Amino acid sequence: MHLRGRFVLMCALMLLAPWTHAHAEGQPDAQYCSLLPALEADGERANASVAWQVGLGPRLPGSNASAVLLDGFEENHSAWSFTRDTHTYAGGTLTNLVAVYPPNADLTTTDALGLGAHYDSREFADFEENATNASLPVPGANDGGSGVGAVGELMRIIPSMNLEHAVVVVLFDAEDQGTYTDKESWAEGSRRWADNLTEEEVSHLKAFILLDMIGDADLNLANISSNDETLNDAIGPLAQALGLIEGREACTGVEVRDIYQPGTSVDIMDDHVRLNNVGVPAVDLIDHRYGPNATGFANSYWHTLEDTPDKVSADALETVMHLVELGLRSGAWMDAVNAEGDLNDGPSGEEDFQPTLDEARDLAGPIGWLVLGWIFVLGLAGCSVVAILALRKLRPPSAARTWSWDEA
Ligand SMILES: [Zn+2]
Repeated sequence: MHLRGRFVLMCALMLLAPWTHAHAEGQPDAQYCSLLPALEADGERANASVAWQVGLGPRLPGSNASAVLLDGFEENHSAWSFTRDTHTYAGGTLTNLVAVYPPNADLTTTDALGLGAHYDSREFADFEENATNASLPVPGANDGGSGVGAVGELMRIIPSMNLEHAVVVVLFDAEDQGTYTDKESWAEGSRRWADNLTEEEVSHLKAFILLDMIGDADLNLANISSNDETLNDAIGPLAQALGLIEGREACTGVEVRDIYQPGTSVDIMDDHVRLNNVGVPAVDLIDHRYGPNATGFANSYWHTLEDTPDKVSADALETVMHLVELGLRSGAWMDAVNAEGDLNDGPSGEEDFQPTLDEARDLAGPIGWLVLGWIFVLGLAGCSVVAILALRKLRPPSAARTWSWDEA
C-alpha cells in the first residue's frame, strides 16, 4: 500500500472508532433504563415530612424542636441503628444524628455510602428587607426540611434494596447559622463529624451524597464546582436516563425538561466540603436558585420568611430522590469512586501509581492508541468550538451562566 493509501486508511480508522463511541454516549445507559420501573422513592411522603418539620418550629441548635425532630426520625426508621454525635457550639450543644444500615455495621471495616442533609433551620431571615422580619427565624421548608424529608424517605426503602455495602446517614446540625463574610462559619456540625472520623472510617466511606434545598417547585440543579469531580461525573448519565437534561436522549425519548444543567457551574459552601476536606469524595445536590425565575440571589425565597412548605413540591423532591435512588440501585455512585480507586491501586491516591518498567512497556501500545484517540477528540472539539462560535452569531446572547455563591 503506498503512502497516500495508508494515510487515508488511518484517517478513516481514526474517524470511525471515536464516532461509534460518540454515538453510544448519545444514548441513555441501558442498565439505568431497565431500573427505572423499580424506583420507589415517594415525593408525597418526603413532602409530608417537610410540613411536619416546619410545624415543629425553628430547628435551632440545642432547641426543643431539634430534639423532637431527631426523636421522631429515630422512631420512624426502626430498621436502622442510631448514634448521636454531640459537640459544644456557641456556648451550647450541637447534635449530629448518625444512622447506619445494616444496623450496627462496623464502619471501620465495612465499605459504606454516605447520605446526608442539614436539619437545622437558620435563626435569622436576614434576606428580608424589613428589619423586624429579618430578626425572625426562617421556616426552613426548603432550606433544611427538603433534604431531611428526602433522606428520610430514602431510608424507608434502602433496607429492601439489598445493597452490597452499608449506608450511613447523617443529619447535620448547625449548617445554616454562619455569617456571610466568613465562609468557615457555616457547616459546623459536618465539620466536627468529618474531622472526628478515623482513618479507617474515611477509607471505607467511599462516597457521600448531600441533599440540600431540593424541593423548589421550579427545580434547577447546576454543576457544583466544590463537588468531588469523580463522584460528580456519575450525576450526568443518571440525570440523562431520568430525562433531566434538555435535548439529551432519555430512556423515554428526547427530553424537553431542563432540570440538570451540566454547563452551569456554581461554587457552594455546604456540608459536603467538610467531607471532601478529609478525603471522603462528596457531592452536593442543591438548587441554589430558590423561587420562580430566580437567578443566584435575585427573586429568591432563600433565607427569608417565604421559605414555607407551600413553596416545596413533591415532584421536585421525587425527582432528586429518584436520581439518588437510581445511583444506589445501579451502583453508579460506588462504581464511580471504585473505578478511580482501581486506577490508583491504593487508598492514598495518585502517588501510588508507579508502574514498573515492564508494566510501562505493556502500557505503551494502549497508550499510543489512547493518544491517537485524544488527538482526534481535541481536533473534533476544535471544530465544534468553531461551529458553536459560528452558530452563536445567529442567536441572541444568553445571560451569564457562571457565578459564585458561598453559602447554602
Ligand atoms: Zn441556608
